[in-house]
Amino acid sequence: MQPEPKSEQGKATRIIHNRRHKDSFGSPYSPVYNTTTYRFADTASLQEVIEGRTPGNLYTRWGSNPTIQELEQGLASLEGAEDALAFASGMAAISATLFAHGRHGIVCVGDLYGGTQELLTKHLEPLGIPVTFLLKHEPEQLAKALNKPGMLVYCESPANPTLSVLDLKTLAQQAHAKGALLAVDNTFASPINQRPLALGADLSLHSASKFLGGHSDITAGAVMASADRIKPIGLWRKNLGQIIAPETAALLSRSLRTLPLRVRQHNENAMAVARAMEAHPAIKRVLYPGLPDFDGHNLAAQQMDGFGGVLTIELKGGREQAVKVADSLRVFLLATSLGGVESLVSQPCATSHHGISQEERERRGITDSMLRLSVGLEDAQDLIADLEQALSQL
Ligand code: PLP
Repeated sequence: MQPEPKSEQGKATRIIHNRRHKDSFGSPYSPVYNTTTYRFADTASLQEVIEGRTPGNLYTRWGSNPTIQELEQGLASLEGAEDALAFASGMAAISATLFAHGRHGIVCVGDLYGGTQELLTKHLEPLGIPVTFLLKHEPEQLAKALNKPGMLVYCESPANPTLSVLDLKTLAQQAHAKGALLAVDNTFASPINQRPLALGADLSLHSASKFLGGHSDITAGAVMASADRIKPIGLWRKNLGQIIAPETAALLSRSLRTLPLRVRQHNENAMAVARAMEAHPAIKRVLYPGLPDFDGHNLAAQQMDGFGGVLTIELKGGREQAVKVADSLRVFLLATSLGGVESLVSQPCATSHHGISQEERERRGITDSMLRLSVGLEDAQDLIADLEQALSQL
């Protein structure tokens, strides 16, 4: 085992030197333990491990795999968490967390990823789990909805696709006052820009398919929390079979080594694109927490270290105009998802929020003329030029 990195080291140093094993051939990185199982010399030693008297690995689906555990150590360190779990997808992380901590009732605050909303309304509510949706942070409504102990408050900040920002510190205090936990989907911010646990939240979740993976080639998820909150989630992961594959875990560990650098550049490029779009005559609104005129800007400036790589532009006109611009872009790829090195454009009403009704989208201010941009790591001037040429087709 390598010595633990000193906690006063910065995130970039810690994640680059995150290593549980010293490789006998001198590789600076740990080998990939691409195995489902582990052999034992005899039944007595297997018994020792299975009964927890001796540490050891038994079966990868249970989370017992050195490659996955090394990744989890890195994920925990990035969020300043005691523990972390890696999953086969963001939805796997979210569903295991909701099963483990949301069975007494879930109160959602603000906008959510369409898939999470679908899981809550189409699967968890029919199973008898009470779910309440509050449009935004309304303290009296929240207090009223938290009507029994052991409930879960669930939110995203910045949220998909409106980028709306919630006051996580206040939300955590209000949840705790009612004996509830606060879970935050931190996908849009990434741990480099925001650490919900330090703001008082109990659980931080990620679609690692986005910024953590960063190259649009990994489907994975993560949850970070204290060890006692992580433990019951691990049991759901084990029994629902949601473990990440060791090869994917190794790729994700590699991605994490460049996360601080990538996120810094995503922040910078998104700010340049947001500023350019704000001034464009064909654009009605730019939703980006980094813009001083954005509704949640001051709050974002307090609780975030950077404003992220995603923004939404709302065009003058309707669905037709949005489709025309999306179809005219050449550098931005027309694809759902976000957080990769390549810039992507998607129309929320046709992709991430297609699964929720038009009426519900309207209630949430998600319009047909919105385009969500995931700003990648290309040269910012090329991205702006691409948007300008697409907007000139209107
Ligand atoms: N959370 C957010 C904010 C997302 O945008 C997504 C996917 O787009 C998810 C969760 C689900 O993640 P995955 O696709 O990795 O299951």
